[in-house]
Amino acid sequence: MKHVETILAQLGNHSDPRTGAINTPIYLSTAYAHPHLGESTGYDYVRTANPTRDVLQAGIAELEGGKYGFATASGMAAIQLVLEGLLKAGDRIVTLQDLYGGAYRYFHHMEELGVYQFEYCLDQEALEAALKEETAMVFIETPTNPLMVEFDIEAIADLAKAAGALLVVDNTFYTPIIQRPLELGADVVVHSATKYLAGHNDVLAGLVVCSRDDLGEKLDFQLNTTGSTLSVFDSWLVIRGLKTLALRFKQHEKNARAIVDYLKEEPLVTAVNYPGRGGMLSFAIKDTELISDFLQALDIITFAESLGGVESLITYPKTQTHADIPEEVRLSYGLTDEILRISTGIEFAEDLVADLKQAFDAVR
Ligand SMILES: *Cc1c(COP(=O)(O)O)cnc(C)c1O
Repeated sequence: MKHVETILAQLGNHSDPRTGAINTPIYLSTAYAHPHLGESTGYDYVRTANPTRDVLQAGIAELEGGKYGFATASGMAAIQLVLEGLLKAGDRIVTLQDLYGGAYRYFHHMEELGVYQFEYCLDQEALEAALKEETAMVFIETPTNPLMVEFDIEAIADLAKAAGALLVVDNTFYTPIIQRPLELGADVVVHSATKYLAGHNDVLAGLVVCSRDDLGEKLDFQLNTTGSTLSVFDSWLVIRGLKTLALRFKQHEKNARAIVDYLKEEPLVTAVNYPGRGGMLSFAIKDTELISDFLQALDIITFAESLGGVESLITYPKTQTHADIPEEVRLSYGLTDEILRISTGIEFAEDLVADLKQAFDAVR
């Protein structure tokens, strides 16, 4: 098998034999001529299939070691596709407490509407206990956001399998560069491609991958039926971003390590959460009173709500990404008011460390 760097760099090359285009052409045509009655070129109508989007879908399937890839209008649309495409009304879903805020908001909304039931678990032990009841799906993120706790996908896949439940893993934070959940026993992988995969803070997109034919068929039917497909131009932007993912990821990780080393020595920081890989970290500041001035004092690292792009961003989960999670729930699993999250960009490491240091000095 080809290495991930090669798959990424070559994405879309050789996809257009007619012209030999190296860079995937953007096929904006919404309709395609049929050669004869009852015949198709494989392309009929853009919602169903499009040559540019196909390159992205085949690419993410290969990168995740899966068979079927689906590109959706956002990461949330990817999560919605998986639930609504694979479940039926009344189904029970077991998930983790420390979830992306938007996923939690959607889950909560579905529960309020009476569509699905959810059980939120703090750790693997709780998950194991929750799986004693009939469960249709287990949905996890690892590492979790923003506390950066890693879960053992293989162990959870075994538990899910024994319970007859599908395992869905949100792989947004680690990407296939670090972990390939399907190879560890997961049934479905979802991504917010808005983050690392596209990587330039310029496109909203989601991706779904699976291997099983029955799941692929259901997801294909649901996506074509509901139409939450990714636009053609945005598909091209994600392909373009993906080509440099491996290179970018090395720098994200290098910068995260440098920042973590510094934060561990910083007296105004009381805790640092970093699993030792990837470009995401969070830390607790000594006093919440300092947060506003600290964010104001940062020069390079931008106070903004996203992650995975080339520019370093800092987020305050309490008022941003996790604002929809009730305070008592948030506090119960350690997402306190002191936590700030950093997504390292690809800038020069020492510049980022110097920026943090001068901002701490400004509030000291
Ligand atoms: C951002 C994000 C999502 C949602 O994706 P969008 O592209 O913003 O819709 C889902 N899961 C995780 C882990 C995320 O970070």
